[in-house]
Amino acid sequence: MEDLPAKLSSRPKERPTSEFIHRNLRRHCDYSGNVKTEITGVLYHEMTHIWQWNGNGRASGGLIEGIADFVRLKAGYAPSHWVAPGQGNRWDQGYDITARFLDYCNSLKNGFVAELNMKMKNGYSNDFFAQLLGKTVDQLWSDYKAKFN
Ligand SMILES: [Zn+2]
Repeated sequence: MEDLPAKLSSRPKERPTSEFIHRNLRRHCDYSGNVKTEITGVLYHEMTHIWQWNGNGRASGGLIEGIADFVRLKAGYAPSHWVAPGQGNRWDQGYDITARFLDYCNSLKNGFVAELNMKMKNGYSNDFFAQLLGKTVDQLWSDYKAKFN
């Protein structure tokens, strides 16, 4: 979520403090949709930051946040205010935009996001997309935009 401190996004192995989670949840309690669904979704997102890899700090914050929202999406807690598939200007714009794109990539190869995360243990390169899917991330983004627009 946009209220996540940048410091935490760039170093996701730091555990969110209970104070931080409470602050985040309080903000979401103003949300007019299904509060229980929203809170559960936020927890999926934040818990992902605990176990995901960040390429030793070399992966972009947009990708890190996108993976966290992808996990939320696959858990069934994508809220109605998220963008539809095919939206956004850049694949690593973050959050729901990147989550939708990663969902498309994962549809090409089941388990893609989990494999990408494993490769991000010791470093990061956009070439990971080509290694796993046989196309550059820019080509994948073009295909994705063409499919949904
Ligand atoms: Zn986050």
